[in-house]
Amino acid sequence: MNQYDKAMSAAEQQCAQSGSRLTEKRKHILSGLLKSEKALSAYELVDFCKNEYNESIPAMSVYRILDFLQSERLVHKLSTANKYVACSHITCKHEHEVPQFLICSECQHVEEIGISKSLIETLQKNAKKVGFELVSPQLEINAICHTCLDKT
Ligand SMILES: [Zn+2]
Ligand SMILES: [Zn+2]
Ligand SMILES: [Zn+2]
Repeated sequence: MNQYDKAMSAAEQQCAQSGSRLTEKRKHILSGLLKSEKALSAYELVDFCKNEYNESIPAMSVYRILDFLQSERLVHKLSTANKYVACSHITCKHEHEVPQFLICSECQHVEEIGISKSLIETLQKNAKKVGFELVSPQLEINAICHTCLDKT
């Protein structure tokens, strides 16, 4: 089984475990994100479904499906870009860490990495000092990937 098939069957199991179902449409949206190197917007996913599956899903439904996939922890939202990525730990059994995202400013390639609890706590503490509460401890960092770096 390749990585894509593994992720799909793990996603189906995950949904079954929580008493929901990975329907055809939900599968198609997830597959768009799994196949993409970049984060995708809801509208890019509408286009993907049209091109790949000849299926018209209204943007509103795509948003609803994305909410569902997020609640199943299969997908993450990048709030700064308002785009979505497939979780890179769908097939993992370990506990999911607070996700941190590196986003290449050249090619928009996204990598998900974990970050330690103590780092988040420091962040929270420092935010508190200046009168802020973190709404989401998820970090989205502007970076440059090695492929792009090699090109310059
Ligand atoms: Zn993840
Ligand atoms: Zn993992
Ligand atoms: Zn890059």
